[in-house]
Amino acid sequence: MTTSLLDIFLTRARQLPDGPVLDFERRRFTAGQLANDVTAFARALRAQGLAPGDRVALFLENSPAFVISYLGTWYAGGVVVLVNTQYRQVELGHILADSGARACVTGAAGAAELTPLKAQLPELEWLVTIEPSPQAVPWPTLDFDALLSRGAASTASLSLPSGEQLAVLGYTSGTTGRSKGAMMLHRNLLANVRAVTEAWRWTREDRLLLALPLFHTHGLMVGLHGTLYSGGTVDLRRRFDAAEVLAALSQDTSLTMFFGVPTMYGRLLEESRRTGVRPRALRLLVSGSAPLSAQLFQEVAETFGQRILERYGMTETIMNTTNPYEGERRPGTVGMPYPGQEARVVDVRTRQPLPPGETGEIEVRGPHVFAGYWRRPDATSESFDAEGWFRTGDLGERDADGYFRITGRARELIISGGFNVYPREVEEVLALHPAVAEVAVLGLPDPDFGEQVVAVVVPAAGQNAEPSALVEFCKERLASFKKPRRVVFVDALPRNALGKVQKHVLRERLLGSGPTAA
Ligand code: ATP
Ligand code: MG
Repeated sequence: MTTSLLDIFLTRARQLPDGPVLDFERRRFTAGQLANDVTAFARALRAQGLAPGDRVALFLENSPAFVISYLGTWYAGGVVVLVNTQYRQVELGHILADSGARACVTGAAGAAELTPLKAQLPELEWLVTIEPSPQAVPWPTLDFDALLSRGAASTASLSLPSGEQLAVLGYTSGTTGRSKGAMMLHRNLLANVRAVTEAWRWTREDRLLLALPLFHTHGLMVGLHGTLYSGGTVDLRRRFDAAEVLAALSQDTSLTMFFGVPTMYGRLLEESRRTGVRPRALRLLVSGSAPLSAQLFQEVAETFGQRILERYGMTETIMNTTNPYEGERRPGTVGMPYPGQEARVVDVRTRQPLPPGETGEIEVRGPHVFAGYWRRPDATSESFDAEGWFRTGDLGERDADGYFRITGRARELIISGGFNVYPREVEEVLALHPAVAEVAVLGLPDPDFGEQVVAVVVPAAGQNAEPSALVEFCKERLASFKKPRRVVFVDALPRNALGKVQKHVLRERLLGSGPTAA
């Protein structure tokens, strides 16, 4: 019986060893080559003393070394810890200490970043580096290529992971607080990749252009997993570069799919307008990770000759909903659950399921849902109900045809004077004002109303916005209790690596400051 994606990949590599899998900066890996490197990496880790269940952190840019270390750690019985490459000491220290990683695969810059954290990381024993470190590193360090050579010569025995084994600790993006390690079992990953390849008709004829980071669910567990499962190929990029990606999309006739976040589509459109280069129509364009505006959907449809398929996922589940591959893709919605998965909307207070058109918290259930938060039994039990529904923390509604729409985060819901205010609704109104370039709305404590609505605004260049004018603008368009009580101007909004606004950072800043305007 197939128990993991690794099993599927290795079987294919035995059957079709010469079939291409991965292209990266003019290097091509066939399934056979990749499988050999994965096996060598696994054997070397075992020889190094890695025991089943040990955690191996990957603090690496997109590269073949990432893919080899990822699958190789599984083959050695280990658990992969994913680390955002933009993370610096605070986030790195948190994730490496929390996961208890025993080894870390990284580059020279990563090793330098880790060095000051030595005292905080008693469980970290050694590093694997993909390039020599110019500075001394306070851990025994193995060179990646030397490790592969050593593993190739080893005959250490390996066994395929079972479905119940822990495969990955995926740390959430930390948009609503400190990031938590989501425990993904091999069977969760397999259920996910089966559902997505079926839903999107992914086959071995497909070739995906992937410039999303592999340390994050969307790139790794949708993009790479789907490729390995379907037997297709991936053109992997170290990072997203709008000009390079646009050139590939316009010239490479073998490409059939591109996955991106909304900001990537925005940049591609800008680049296309600037240069006149137009992408070819691919079989599938996917957007996820953050809301895609109806306007961007429309512009992409015009420029790319293809309607984006918007999906909604998260670290804990990988995939919650998708617009249909065949059938109507509705802008502003994230579609419906994948085959074999469930999603519903419940009242935030009573937890009772709501009818179409009413806003509540989105809950999901199915074999794709993670096994709990690592070393956080409190957070795990808060997130699941007795029937196994997982509380996504996202607010949304379902329309009469079953399409879900996301309207914000449950933790960001503002309750002012007993009334519910959904920040996204106020943000959408303020964004229409010509003096507003960007806006984030949040609730802060208020002695009379419990919470008050606060708008944080980045003014549009050359515009002079008056707080009172913005408040008035809201009052004309929304119920009075939704208008901001306070308007704060800032130069930029704090965003994380995926471009999501970090409201908890804004909240902390604002709680430390006095009243401003309105
Ligand atoms: P944390 O859980 O630490 O606060 P996070 O939720 O941002 O961080 P991720 O798991 O990376 O961490 O992101 C998942 C979230 O991204 C979803 O819960 C949802 O809020 C948002 N999201 C994903 N896809 C979409 C989409 N298509 N439209 C709107 N929001 C989306
Ligand atoms: Mg989350």
